[in-house]
Amino acid sequence: MRYLVISDIHANLPALQSVLMDAAGAYDMVWCLGDLVGYGPNPNQCVERIASLPSVVIAGNHDWGVIGRADLLVFNTHARQALYWTQMELGEEYQEYLRSLPATVRVGDVLLAHGSVRDPIWEYVLDVHTAQVSFELDTFQVCLVGHTHIPLMFEWLDARNEVRILLPDWEAPVQLEGRRLIVNPGSVGQPRDGDPRASYGILDTDAMTFQYRRVAYPVEITQEQMRARGLPQRLIDRLELGR
Ligand code: ZN
Repeated sequence: MRYLVISDIHANLPALQSVLMDAAGAYDMVWCLGDLVGYGPNPNQCVERIASLPSVVIAGNHDWGVIGRADLLVFNTHARQALYWTQMELGEEYQEYLRSLPATVRVGDVLLAHGSVRDPIWEYVLDVHTAQVSFELDTFQVCLVGHTHIPLMFEWLDARNEVRILLPDWEAPVQLEGRRLIVNPGSVGQPRDGDPRASYGILDTDAMTFQYRRVAYPVEITQEQMRARGLPQRLIDRLELGR
């Protein structure tokens, strides 16, 4: 099976549509690692689109914020403003969909979590020490995470009992056979690694490979929609910077 691995769509429909078009024919099923909503202008359309696909979807911290499962006071000011707007905007059937999402899903040796193994909703895996905790708490071969909006891999080195960071290879697929990895596909709707293009990956469980991919989308359309909805300027500006 070939899985389209996406995360942190954040209600950015132009970005999601561009990824689905770019990946068309390259996957059999979607794995979505949470944060379908928050920040962006199209929460209803994004949840509807994801729910319409053959998919396994888990919850992120912004999804929990919208449905009242997370205290909005723990979010920063701009994120919180966007979440208040999203709560008013998101239809009841889509709120119900977000409520139905699990915090983790295991498919064979692959574990899906928005944040980390230790804290699937909130913990950011950005360094080898945090990654090591996840490797030691679980027996997964591959753990797919999002949340940081930064495409990155961590590999467990058994002989040395330590973890190393692997930067994404945008050209060649990464071989997964015989390795233990934490894989972050980056963010579809609000990349933060300095590249504004939508980031995602294709996991092929027959070939045992993960291919990182990047696709440009019309950032200015998303920005215009955010302006029209009165969403915070800082959130509008950061999309074209990829920060
Ligand atoms: Zn996010």
